[in-house]
Amino acid sequence: MLDEGQLRLFLQPKTDLASGALSGAEALVRWQHPQRGLVPPAAFIPFAEQTGFIRRLTLWMFEQVARRQRELASLGVARVSINLSTRDLLDPELPDKFDALLVARRVPAEAFCLEITESAIMDDPQRAMATLNRLALMGFKLSIDDFGAGLSSYAWLKQLPVDELKIDTAFVRNMDRDPVDAKLVRSMIELAHNLGFGVVAEGVENARTWELLRELNCEQAQGFHMGRPMPVEEFLAWSARWVDKRRLLGTAGSAGLLH
Ligand code: C2E
Ligand code: CA
Ligand code: CA
Repeated sequence: MLDEGQLRLFLQPKTDLASGALSGAEALVRWQHPQRGLVPPAAFIPFAEQTGFIRRLTLWMFEQVARRQRELASLGVARVSINLSTRDLLDPELPDKFDALLVARRVPAEAFCLEITESAIMDDPQRAMATLNRLALMGFKLSIDDFGAGLSSYAWLKQLPVDELKIDTAFVRNMDRDPVDAKLVRSMIELAHNLGFGVVAEGVENARTWELLRELNCEQAQGFHMGRPMPVEEFLAWSARWVDKRRLLGTAGSAGLLH
């Protein structure tokens, strides 16, 4: 049975494509199982959603990030992204629970980006929208996760207080080899910019993809090419190495330094 003591916070870097600087991080959960070892989220998140444990998990993740927020901000991590599930969006007390943690840790809401998928909103759009509006008013940034993976309805997209779209790994991963994926990514970036949203490309696995995204004016990138999700201490070491490499090679070499 899942218990909080066995949860682990992992962080994956988000980088600014124009400058190559570390700009943010996504908080991703892992389950340190006594027998099974490190269990990936796909193996237990659906179960946590069914049982309702996901609400505790979300608060646990939020608090872990809040505890490290000042340290992370000092490295250039302006914002940490936290994943929300359907159950979170349907909890009318979620904004108050987050607020209590912010007050206790003396951290601003602006230090967090909350990632939501389209399907999480579509379960009960009215209630989800009410929660999201309250969270946005508190100062949280909101991001649409896995953009392009569902059948997007632009009607709700324009009603939401969204700041950022995250293009799904499925399109980004092969865009250096697949011209159709490249065209889809280009169109999604244009759409996002026309609506006034920032764009994060997720699933950047090589230097060529980094360059293509930079040419398309995508703002941020996340992917194995820069860094995998890692425990916080490892993330701190990674960011120090990243700063050193950028200093050596300069901005122009930011794609090259990644080899
Ligand atoms: P997600 O929110 O779309 O998270 C991004 C996933 O893409 C992560 O998988 C990450 O490791 C993977 N990824 C990042 N860069 C690359 C890349 O370059 N190539 C490839 N192939 N994959 C890449 P992870 O950590 O296994 O998480 C899987 C999913 O589990 C997440 O997808 C999210 O839906 C869910 N999840 C993880 N942590 C949490 C959490 O704390 N709360 C909730 N509600 N869901 C979570
Ligand atoms: Ca996410
Ligand atoms: Ca995603």
